[in-house]
Amino acid sequence: MKFALVIPDGVADEPQDSLGGKTPLQAARIPHMDEVARIGLVGRADHVPASMPSGSDVGTMSLFGYDPLEYHTGRAPLEAAAQGIELGPLDWCIRCNFVTVTDGRMTSFTAEQIPNELGKTLIEVLQRDHCGDEHWKFYAGVSYRNLLVYRARGVAAPFGPATHTTPPHDITDQLIEPYLPHGPGSEVLCELMERSKPLFAACPENQARAATGVHTATQCWLWGQGQRPAFKSFMERFGKRGAVITAVDLLRGLGRLLGWNVIEVAGATGYLDTDYAAKGRAAIQALKDDVTDFIVVHVEATDEASHEGRADEKVKALEQIDQHIVGPLHEYLKSQGAYRLLVCPDHPTFLRTKTHSHGYVPFALCGRGVTAGGAGTYDEVTAAASPIRLDRGCELMPLLFRDT
Ligand SMILES: [Zn+2]
Repeated sequence: MKFALVIPDGVADEPQDSLGGKTPLQAARIPHMDEVARIGLVGRADHVPASMPSGSDVGTMSLFGYDPLEYHTGRAPLEAAAQGIELGPLDWCIRCNFVTVTDGRMTSFTAEQIPNELGKTLIEVLQRDHCGDEHWKFYAGVSYRNLLVYRARGVAAPFGPATHTTPPHDITDQLIEPYLPHGPGSEVLCELMERSKPLFAACPENQARAATGVHTATQCWLWGQGQRPAFKSFMERFGKRGAVITAVDLLRGLGRLLGWNVIEVAGATGYLDTDYAAKGRAAIQALKDDVTDFIVVHVEATDEASHEGRADEKVKALEQIDQHIVGPLHEYLKSQGAYRLLVCPDHPTFLRTKTHSHGYVPFALCGRGVTAGGAGTYDEVTAAASPIRLDRGCELMPLLFRDT
């Protein structure tokens, strides 16, 4: 029996004036998702515990059946896994953004999309500064997204669950002072950030970029710290061989940590211009190869449309997912025998606020042994009318595999 999950990231939303009072799910032409709802059941699930910030790292962890309250340690360890950086049981990983701070305010959390080459140079500058220190290792990533690892080497790290840091994208244009790290080990993080300032100011390549009038990197910003999550593999937990298709590093990392095959698709961009059809084809191919029981297809475009506040683009992305991924995938699943198909986002991303939110998301599940619940369409309204409500979203995955 084959299983599939399609994640239209952040698709759950509110009614929009620009869509005639409909939500994007209601306004979009999505016959294939509606079919899943019609022949199966619709319900709602809450993947983001109230005490945690909303985002794909938390939401997808819950969606994959792992309670974030128990397993989520931070965002950086997931990104480390995506890059193939192994963490020891006492090691910590910390996200190291390159940012622009002007007059004490966070002017750009990306140092105006700092080029990869310059980012690499600055990572080398930081590493040289820590030459001889066996604990700190900097890893260059893409653009402003870098990682810093604390190698414990048998010595307990100074950080703990009460170490508090702030994502720089949450404080754009605000004074940074109230958002500096606090709690255990924060003085170490603050010192590292402080030390980066003169180093970046003295770096010739960085100076040259600043001279062109660009908001280049003035310092590093440390956040998203955590230890390797203590996951039981997906196989151990659910007895299924999983694979994931995504353009987002967090999801790749999560997939690796769960023991899934991470399938790279040419043309998958994580943006509105992603190659939807290529993702659909890759999902079918993975199931055909017979090394995969469970395929996950994640599409970021719907979330991006919300971040940009573009209702029309969100509808368009949704229609593309329906036409090029859910449609063909469902067709294939039906043709090969017993299956179950689930459609569910990780969290709402409101067009109104342009950011991730807490709250229920609608899901639709169909296939063998799933009794039709009578909903005609897949959207927030039919989901809210359903008696099926999962306050712990991590209970959805056991529902997908129930009695199989
Ligand atoms: Zn998300």
